[in-house]
Amino acid sequence: MTFQNTLQFAQQLDAKDELKNYRDEFIFPQHNGKDVIYFTGNSLGLQPKRTKHYVDEVMNDWANMAVEGHFYAEKPWWDYHERFAYPLGKLMGAKPSEITVMNTLTVNLHLLMVSFYRPTKTRYKIICEEKAFPSDQYMFQTQLNFRGYKIEDALVEIKRREGEHNIRLEDIVAKINEVGDELALVLIGGVNYYTGQVFDMKAITDAGHKVGAIVGFDLAHAAGNIKLELHDWNVDFASWCSYKYMNSGPGNASGCFIHERHHTNKDLARFGGWWAQNKERRFKMDPQFDPIIGADGWQVSNLPILSLAPYLASVEMFAEVGMDKLIKKRDQITAYLEFILHEIDAAIDGTEFEIITPSNQEERACQLSVFLHGQGRSLFEYLMKNGVITDWREPNVIRFAPVPFYCSYEDMYEFGQILKKGISNR
Ligand SMILES: *Cc1c(COP(=O)(O)O)cnc(C)c1O
Repeated sequence: MTFQNTLQFAQQLDAKDELKNYRDEFIFPQHNGKDVIYFTGNSLGLQPKRTKHYVDEVMNDWANMAVEGHFYAEKPWWDYHERFAYPLGKLMGAKPSEITVMNTLTVNLHLLMVSFYRPTKTRYKIICEEKAFPSDQYMFQTQLNFRGYKIEDALVEIKRREGEHNIRLEDIVAKINEVGDELALVLIGGVNYYTGQVFDMKAITDAGHKVGAIVGFDLAHAAGNIKLELHDWNVDFASWCSYKYMNSGPGNASGCFIHERHHTNKDLARFGGWWAQNKERRFKMDPQFDPIIGADGWQVSNLPILSLAPYLASVEMFAEVGMDKLIKKRDQITAYLEFILHEIDAAIDGTEFEIITPSNQEERACQLSVFLHGQGRSLFEYLMKNGVITDWREPNVIRFAPVPFYCSYEDMYEFGQILKKGISNR
């Protein structure tokens, strides 16, 4: 499609947008009496209006039934998390038994490493991406430290080539082959949080398995953003947070995927708790630990229902729309944003900024990371003051996520006008 940088053209795209009514399902912060232009759904998704109802339901059941809510609430609490298995499984390309929700992302990655990082004398190395999300870096460092390995020896980072912003798949596969027999675990982000690059998870999983390693993914930026086929790709395990593209609210619960081929392996080490216990025996207070066969067998504590309620609202909303429609709009609105950025770049003298996200649609999703030359931070502050919510990442990157659920094409056009004014006045 040939785009035009005009209000009329943007409005035409909005009129044809099959998801346009969903914008009204979200609550936008206001700036001078208007909805802000929200580009940070990759950091904290907007609040869906229907979420309050899900939370109120739990509050009311708690008020009216107290402890009896565990079994008699509108949605009983003791197995509330099981409501996620089917719709969330569909979103993640997983069987219901391969999905569970609990804790938060970094906590879950630590717990999953207990089971899936099983180093031996000769096979103990971990491959991750260079400049992984800080929490993942600290997780690797502290896990390795706890297990008695030296980070410089056991942690292998896949690097970008000199002068390139993204990591090449061929370099990932080459590194996996090079570490080979010493490789215990590959654990990388399915979508890089900084550049928005989408990795070929199937190819990485195949390469890891070929050398005898376990392969897991941090899907913080992938859940609710890209098409996932975790079961068919044979991924061993994965975890994600729900407050980014999945709009479940600040710091909210995480999800886990554990491939079914691991479910019956009772020799896998795990840190257990009563919510993993065989449901028939859970309340018998039986001393014998007999975990559920399935991802729920990795549960630990009884679940924070007030935190699951907004997540359930969101998962049901995603199930209602389906990833295909979201992806279709995602690709078009991201391409439109890219077009507008290029238009502005062409209209100004010199190189003010550079898009570091891959331009190839197969390798990106709903994010454009823009590297600013010169005084980037002041431009970021100018945007925030003008009702454009973005985020700043050191040393000089602004990330823009035109989330298909609630961003409009008109937002992209308006943003372009604001940006142009900001750049020409500098
Ligand atoms: C956002 C994000 C996290 C956040 O971890 P929490 O444990 O939820 O605080 C972890 N990893 C990646 C790649 C992220 O983008």
